[in-house]
Amino acid sequence: MDILKLVRKNVRELEPYSCARDEYTGNKGIFLDANENSLGSVLKIDLNRYPDPRQLELKARIAAMKGSDISRIFIGNGSDEVIDLLIRAFCEPGQDRIMIMPPTYGMYKVAADVNNIPVFEIPLTKDFQIDSENVLANSADVKLIFICSPNNPTGNCLRDEDIENILRNFEGLVILDEAYIDFAADRSWLPRLNQYQNLVIMQTLSKAWGLASLRFGMGFADPQIIEILTKIKYPYNVGGATQQLVLEALSYFNKKDEMVQQILSERNRLIQQLAQLDMVEKIYPSDANFVLVKFKNAKRVFNYLIQKQIIVRDRSVVIHCENSLRITVGTPAENDTLISALTT
Ligand code: PMP
Repeated sequence: MDILKLVRKNVRELEPYSCARDEYTGNKGIFLDANENSLGSVLKIDLNRYPDPRQLELKARIAAMKGSDISRIFIGNGSDEVIDLLIRAFCEPGQDRIMIMPPTYGMYKVAADVNNIPVFEIPLTKDFQIDSENVLANSADVKLIFICSPNNPTGNCLRDEDIENILRNFEGLVILDEAYIDFAADRSWLPRLNQYQNLVIMQTLSKAWGLASLRFGMGFADPQIIEILTKIKYPYNVGGATQQLVLEALSYFNKKDEMVQQILSERNRLIQQLAQLDMVEKIYPSDANFVLVKFKNAKRVFNYLIQKQIIVRDRSVVIHCENSLRITVGTPAENDTLISALTT
């Protein structure tokens, strides 16, 4: 597969902006090259210098942690940035389209809409799995297929066989969004990355690591894809404070695992308690830090909870999710409050 052939012509031929920190990469000396404030910042912490645009120290840490290679890692301002850059790099407006499988994460469509890229929708089956033959039969003019596993808002993992079928038979890129993979029993596809040149895996520190506010997402892919994304990103897309804090945070792997275990046991408790309520029709199996729950009257429950200042996500308008609310697992006290609000 010739990855470069999939890239938009103007992007392939683009001469990227070369910033000061690209042109001189040493870290000793008197820096008078980037029009920074040489005196310092208004805060007590060091923030006056632009951060490393290549994020090398971070990439080395992530490579070691994930058993990957620096050349296969892209770091974005959240995985939302990775979604946007992939669409901008590979989809020619008026010519290409993306494919999504609703119900799924809403940003794939929004990012495509912003870039005037048509979105072809092949819904998941009623049990929220991929209709892979239908996907493949309709993939002409499609450059990117987005697959979210565990899927948001349904919570389940998508079957490996279907993902593999698409990877083997689709001639564009398959973007596998693993934002919730730390909560899943199924393994990440990361160890299989090298087998598929057209596979892009996205992960984020916003969920299991509890760092949503830092805006830190990762894309793992063939080095040629990483080079293209790097070429079109803003030079300093990941701030210095974020880079510093993430470097520190990555040492707390055990703490992340502990929180995941706690969230999983709370998830089970929440499911058990919700299952006893008369108003609940169905609780969908979850491999994530949330559950999709079908109510007899979701709108009523949603409005009632809002009155109690408990905010959940109403997904009723989404295909196959009629009367369903997506509920994030809270702290034990928050989950107790939710359940007692629904019981009284
Ligand atoms: N993918 C999925 C499936 C998500 O649910 C979310 C956030 N809700 C994201 C990506 C975006 O994550 P980030 O915070 O890294 O931009």
